[in-house]
Amino acid sequence: MERTLSIIKPDGVARGLIGEVIKRFESEGIRIAAMKMVFMSKAQAEGFYAVHRERPFFGSLMDFMTSGPAVVMVLEGENVIAKNRELMGATNYKEAAEGTIRRDFATDIEKNVVHGSDSPETAEFEIGYFFNKLEIVG
Ligand code: GDP
Repeated sequence: MERTLSIIKPDGVARGLIGEVIKRFESEGIRIAAMKMVFMSKAQAEGFYAVHRERPFFGSLMDFMTSGPAVVMVLEGENVIAKNRELMGATNYKEAAEGTIRRDFATDIEKNVVHGSDSPETAEFEIGYFFNKLEIVG
């Protein structure tokens, strides 16, 4: 069993896609072990995306991630880190495979609806960034 962090980003929440995204996870047998809504401050978003701070789009990404509420979830299942990345599709929705969340709903390389941890190490950091042990229902 593996765990990963998923975020329905502010564009996904504003556009009423929470149910759609969760439906895709549940219909693949992925279990939601924790979930909450967060309206990130600049400091919170900067801490979360610290690895990207040198990238040219960092400022724009911070404005986007702090533009409205997001839904953060801990997903649990076999091979769920890779499985979630597969359901999300490529970062750039124009390159994402058909039937993926980003291909179906993203409007921009930045406003791409969902985030998912990309390795066991990032999953551990990202889950711990938003949830303490008591909030994750085993
Ligand atoms: P991810 O793991 O697929 O989310 O992709 P990355 O870790 O490379 O990038 C993090 C997030 O930054 C992406 O999901 C996008 O929201 C945003 N992003 C990535 N590349 C670009 C870019 O070239 N321009 C802009 N404006 N945003 C980007």
